[in-house]
Amino acid sequence: MERKTFADFKFNRQILNAIEETGYTEPTPVQQKAIPPILAGQDVMGVAQTGTGKTAAFVLPLLMKLKYAQGDDPRALILSPTRELAMQIEAHIRLFAKYTDLRTVVLYGGLGPKTQIAELEKGADIVVATPGRFLDLYLAGHLITKSLKILVMDEADKMMDMGFIGKLHRILEVVPRKRQNLLFSATMGELVHKIAGDFLAFPTVVEVTEQATPAQTVSQMLYYVPNLKTKINLLQHLLKNDEAAHRLIVFCKTKSVADNVFHFLERRYGVENVRVIHANKGQNTRINSINAFKEGSVRILVATDVAARGLDVSNVSHVINFDVPIVIEDYVHRIGRTGRAYQTGDAITFCNPAEEYYIRKIEKLIRQQIPVRDIPDDVTIENTGFEERQAIAREIDAQKRKENPEFQGAFHEKKTKNQQADKHQRAGSRKHNPRQSKRRR
Ligand code: AMP
Repeated sequence: MERKTFADFKFNRQILNAIEETGYTEPTPVQQKAIPPILAGQDVMGVAQTGTGKTAAFVLPLLMKLKYAQGDDPRALILSPTRELAMQIEAHIRLFAKYTDLRTVVLYGGLGPKTQIAELEKGADIVVATPGRFLDLYLAGHLITKSLKILVMDEADKMMDMGFIGKLHRILEVVPRKRQNLLFSATMGELVHKIAGDFLAFPTVVEVTEQATPAQTVSQMLYYVPNLKTKINLLQHLLKNDEAAHRLIVFCKTKSVADNVFHFLERRYGVENVRVIHANKGQNTRINSINAFKEGSVRILVATDVAARGLDVSNVSHVINFDVPIVIEDYVHRIGRTGRAYQTGDAITFCNPAEEYYIRKIEKLIRQQIPVRDIPDDVTIENTGFEERQAIAREIDAQKRKENPEFQGAFHEKKTKNQQADKHQRAGSRKHNPRQSKRRR
């Protein structure tokens, strides 16, 4: 089969721009095979494991078909066996629908339905749901299914393993008959065959085994760094290698961090070598900075995600995530700026104890573990000051509360957290790898 590019699929500009920003250079085999029949309106059965790029294989043509926000009732329903997968699918949709106004609502159990109902009431084009929660909300009258035109069942084998077959049949009874169906499954056991038989009409079967490696030319690295000052020291260390690190973007989470990093770099490397862009900079200043960076006359660009949005700069040698992005899809956008067109690039992330939470989420999204590096010996590990330590502890508290609304942030918990921060500190985080000690996998 002739290999297609994303442009060959005749996606619209909004979608092509979003793909471009993720750094995906060519469609994976499952995308090559599944996208054309899906765009042509056929039912498709995809036998593909996670890691093959199957999510984008159905998300991209689905976005192309829905195009823009319309009416109040969902036109596409994506069923997922678990909350985690539902959230990952939603993250992919956010990634690719970024230049459209399409609205996505994700529904899963394990917490009260109030917020989800409120979201639905605002209107949705796409619903991503676990079967149980979908049915509950449908039966309670919060979901209108008459506009559904596309139905996707992801990880059908897992749905069968989890005993969802009855619920799926019930869902098939309440959605319009005339619709396009897509089913993805890693394996094709007896039950999957059965549900596929009930669900799909004359499907095109697509079977692939090859795994996708996100932006293959980018090498990703992660450093566990206890605090801001140590992040600065590490940045300085990486900048020493000026031959390899000749064109860098340093991403920061806020304007004030970006300004601090900028001032530090400016003092050290001279005003002609560094620029900063963030929302408080005037449009002209921003454009000048970007142009200077593009031309190569400026080595380092410090940026916030908001300022970097739509920034047409690629082929940088290094992307440095001075802070871990908390909008996790931004990670993919950020690293997509390096390693383009078969050049290699490094994407280096600095992570303090409060940011580990987002690293775990990013790793789920990209379905990879980012390789961890030890902080080099000649980088000074600073002590975490009182205020920063408190801020980190507060953030970790907030994360725990988000995961478990019952969590009170009790005193003994605080103590444990401080101990944790201490651990990062001692590692000077040097030999301390939270993956081995804290992670439960
Ligand atoms: P999935 O099988 O959908 O879980 O995707 C596995 C990984 O491959 C995810 O990290 C995707 O972001 C990535 N991926 C999907 N499509 C492509 C592509 N065309 N090029 C590079 N990476 C991709």
